[in-house]
Amino acid sequence: MTDLYLGGSWRDPVAGGRREIRSPADGGLVATVAEATGADTEIAISEARKAFDEGPWPTTPERERGALLLRVADLLERDKKDFARAESLDTGKRLVESEYDVDDVVASLRYFGGVAGTEAGRVVDTGRDDAISRVVYEPVGVCGLITPWNYPLLQTSWKIAPALVAGNTFVLKPSELTPSTAIMLMRLLEEAGLPPGVANLVLGAGAEVGAPLAEHPDVDMVSFTGGLATGRLIMASAAKTVKKVALELGGKNPNIVFADADFETAVDFALTAVFLHSGQVCSAGARLLVEDSLHDAFVDEVVRRAGRIRLGGPFDLEAETGPLISAAHLAKVEDYVAAGVAEGAVLRCGGQRLPGKGHFYPPTVLDECHRDMRVVREESFGPVLTVERFIGEDEAVRLGNDTDYGLAGAVWTQDAGKAQRVAKRLRHGTVWINDYHPYVPQAEWGGFKQSGVGRELGPTGLGEYREIKHVWQNVRPQPQRWFRG
Ligand code: NAD
Repeated sequence: MTDLYLGGSWRDPVAGGRREIRSPADGGLVATVAEATGADTEIAISEARKAFDEGPWPTTPERERGALLLRVADLLERDKKDFARAESLDTGKRLVESEYDVDDVVASLRYFGGVAGTEAGRVVDTGRDDAISRVVYEPVGVCGLITPWNYPLLQTSWKIAPALVAGNTFVLKPSELTPSTAIMLMRLLEEAGLPPGVANLVLGAGAEVGAPLAEHPDVDMVSFTGGLATGRLIMASAAKTVKKVALELGGKNPNIVFADADFETAVDFALTAVFLHSGQVCSAGARLLVEDSLHDAFVDEVVRRAGRIRLGGPFDLEAETGPLISAAHLAKVEDYVAAGVAEGAVLRCGGQRLPGKGHFYPPTVLDECHRDMRVVREESFGPVLTVERFIGEDEAVRLGNDTDYGLAGAVWTQDAGKAQRVAKRLRHGTVWINDYHPYVPQAEWGGFKQSGVGRELGPTGLGEYREIKHVWQNVRPQPQRWFRG
């Protein structure tokens, strides 16, 4: 199958490479897709450049660009079942979760499609009656979009929707582990009538196919979602041509439970916070901070319920969560747990991979952790909950902020004043009060500190894909005579 989308046509990779996509749940062959090389990325960039410099897209009225996204949203709803199934096959996540993801993608497309054309910059008071000053928005140019494997379609939509509304062209490089829904999405963009060259798709390994997007002088911006180490590499590469960068990186997110929290609800959400999608969520509440007086009862209940979570493949209706994405990732999660135990953490449940072909690792709780442990400081990105104790508001905030990351966090208390005070002091891009995980496309998503640069979603998420130009017009031009000669 030809599945690189370059300049409006479907092509095979120049070097003819193929890659097998295997199910994380049972190792079965899911698909065989193109494996591109740098040569294909070069073609994709030149097609995107041509479409931006010569094509109709950047000057198409924003409202029409938005209308195209609304058409894509309708098409995606039509094909929801196929997309959800493909996403589940690639990622191993439960079908119902993939269906929620598709709903979220539709909502993002409709949000950006809906805001298109609703604002056209601003008029600025020049303080003079002979001059008019306007601040206007323009597209950035060619965008390199690089996405991860945990929410493949969702992360892609958070980038392509604002990029297209703003009038950019792009080259998309999805994770090599989960490319299927990106291919399908390109077909929908084509069906919706996107002009050739505006959207380009390359598939393959990060270092080979993704790296040129960050380095290439013809790419004006790189927007990346993925791990911190890769984010650093991309930022350094982008510095060579002083590209705009937008980075959505990892998180080590504190879930703070005060003694006066509603016990049942806080326990329930402590599980969802970290074990949803087996912890492979950038905003996973993997760091449980519990007030000392509540600790024993709370952790006992979390452990009891964590031990009952049912694992299974994406189409197993009894399963509550699924496998890890790959054997390499499973090994990484095991390493983190072993390091935690070696550093003094108490293993309360889990901690042992399941036998069989899938990459299954059970919900694991490490108690009596402290902030110097590697498993507390770094992102395991697996179903691993570390528990720390605190006494009082100040210590909760201090611990919650004691991380290099700053993506998300939550606070559980029935004291509304305390909830607001703690939320204000937490240095994280999203703070939930008595809740965990919800987001809406109207609100910005992104991180403080090493969780990233810039924001996705919301008006700021659209702004990332815009250049801002100040246009000054003298309506009564005449010699100024600064120089008298
Ligand atoms: P990753 O960094 O390994 O890969 C992400 C993407 O970058 C992939 O497409 C990969 O092929 C590509 N890549 C790898 N090396 C590259 C290079 N040298 N140059 C250019 N591209 C390269 O991340 P992952 O393992 O796919 O995803 C998991 C990570 O993503 C976690 O750290 C998670 O926290 C993060 N994440 C963050 C958010 C967020 O919104 N902040 C959302 C989802 C995932």
